[in-house]
Order: sequence, then C-alpha cells, then structure tokens
Amino acid sequence: MVRIGTPVWTLRREQLSTWLREQGEPSFRMAQLEEWLWEKGVPHPNAMTDLPVSLRQKLEETFSFPTLTLLHRRKSQDGTEKFLWEMPEGGKVETVWIPHSGRYTICISSQVGCSLNCRFCATGQLGLERQLHGYEILLQLYELRHTFKLPITHVVFMGMGEPLLNYSAVMEALEGITHHLHISPRRITLSTVGIPKGIYRLTERKERFELALSLHSAIPEKRKAIIPLAAHISLSELREALSTYCQRKRDWITLEYVLLEGANDSDEDAEALYDFVQFPLQAKVNLIEYNPVPGLPYRPSPRMQHFQRYLLKRGLIATIRRSRGADIAAGCGQLARRISS
Ligand code: SF4
Repeated sequence: MVRIGTPVWTLRREQLSTWLREQGEPSFRMAQLEEWLWEKGVPHPNAMTDLPVSLRQKLEETFSFPTLTLLHRRKSQDGTEKFLWEMPEGGKVETVWIPHSGRYTICISSQVGCSLNCRFCATGQLGLERQLHGYEILLQLYELRHTFKLPITHVVFMGMGEPLLNYSAVMEALEGITHHLHISPRRITLSTVGIPKGIYRLTERKERFELALSLHSAIPEKRKAIIPLAAHISLSELREALSTYCQRKRDWITLEYVLLEGANDSDEDAEALYDFVQFPLQAKVNLIEYNPVPGLPYRPSPRMQHFQRYLLKRGLIATIRRSRGADIAAGCGQLARRISS
C-alpha cells in the first residue's frame, strides 16, 4: 500500500512494480516508467508520452515528483562548479562538480549544515539545521546529470554534513545511485570524521565503498583542538574500527589530512601519523591544501612538500590533493552557502 504523495524516488523497484500491477498495467510498463525516470531523467508524468493518459493521471495523483530548486550556480577558473539548492523539504545545501584529468566528480552534501563544528570548516559554523532525506541526497546527482547534462564518473560524500550521522538516508541514496544511476560502489567515497558505529555498520554491508577518514592529526590533543568530536571518541577506538573494516573488507582506506600551518604540520605530527598507519590498519594518506575561511584562525601550511617527503621516506603512500574551486569557495572546508558574484 503506497501512501498518497510519497516521493517517487523513495520507492523500491518491487514497490513500484507491485503498484503498477495493482493498477492492472502490463509488466512492460515498469521498464517504460524506469526509462523515463532514470535514463531520460524526466520527472513529470505528463511528459511520459508513451504511457497511457490514464496511467499518467494515476501517477500524478498517487506520487509526488519533487526536484531541487537551483538558487545559484558559479563556475571556477579551473572548471569546478558549485550549485546552491533549495531542498524539496526545506533548507539550502551546496553540491560541487569537479572535472579533472578525465574524471568528473560530484561532491555531495548529506545534511543541511553540520553539528560537528570542526574548527577549520565553514560548514561547521552553520550548525545542523536538519538531516537530508535519502532522495534529497540522490537528487543532487540526478539534477547535475539530467538537468545540467554534466558527466559524472565519481561520487564523494565530502560536501556539507557528516554522512555517517545520517546513515540510513545516505544508504537509501546510495541504493539509488548504484542501482538506478549505475555508479559502481568503487567509485563512491564516504568521508567521515570518524563515527565508529557507522564504520562497523559499513563493515557489515556487502558493497565495498571507498572509505576516507578525516584524520587531520594523529596526536590526541591536537586532534581534539581541530575536531571537537575527538574529545568523545579516542584515536585508539577509531583505529580499531578502521582496522576491523580493512581486515574484514580486505581493503585499504584513505586518511585525509588538511595541512594547517603550525597546527599539525611538524615532523612530530608526521611521525605520529606514521605510527597511526601501521598494520592491521591499511591506509594511504591524502594531504590536502587548506583553503582559508574568513573568520577562522587557520592558514595553509608552507610545509606540504616536506611533510609528504617525510612520509614517503618512512614508506607510506602519501599524495597531495591540490585545491579545486577555491576562488568560488567550493574547496575543502569552504561550503557555507555564501552567494558572491
Ligand atoms: S569537516 Fe565535515 S564533519 Fe567537520 S564540520 Fe565540516 S562538514 Fe561537518
């Protein structure tokens, strides 16, 4: 039994197929409807011209077909684009599209704002307004692909919010992204500041998504100063959850490390990071250039190359991620829904 007004995006395939059968429709209608919704990207029953008028009316009466409302779109000099949306159930979030070296990555938001208040992050200053629904997360990708005709090869959950604190909605969105929009789990990165319960839940899933931890310091006191959540979740507890993930999934994870001048960029910090990345944890390190946020005290570190060389000499895999879209405040830690020309 489907509740009147249910967003069509939230229905599982079997639910939609059962509903069509109950309306007395032949089985091939399912393929037609799916093609309109997911392949052609037409979320309006009236425009589904090969469906009978009576079915189009029933679809209209039974389901809702919400879409995102674009409020602002900006393009960076490097080709990165940022989209500010009004969500169907209220609240504004940003999505970033990054074309780079033959990859087209969409950076998705999972919450309206964020409760974790990481000290370097513009989103953290907003606080949490609400959780996004699964279909609102999914629609960010849907709109870029179908409405704006942008290619998408990779998905990262590094926009606004902590995805593992909105676990069920994120998993619902991922089902749509993998099954209907055909993006492989291996091309989807879930980035977390470290929620052990969520990491254990991911360990139990059959899919293997890419997992990234925003570490930013392997020294407990320094990490707490950057990420307030670290006062409640110790590094050893986190390391245990991540190691379990690596062993059970037979997989590597990525440690994200934003290099902040004077805060986490000394040789002592590099050595602590080296100690953190030891078996049974299997991780590569991604060093990230910081984009300054007005009003926040941090500056990008000038020691990036040195820090990387230190880790490489110790035998770690360490890469540098150059900032993309910083001129339109679309870079790491910059999403704060500011509109500027
Ligand atoms: S870095 Fe991520 S988890 Fe931390 S405040 Fe920003 S959006 Fe939230």
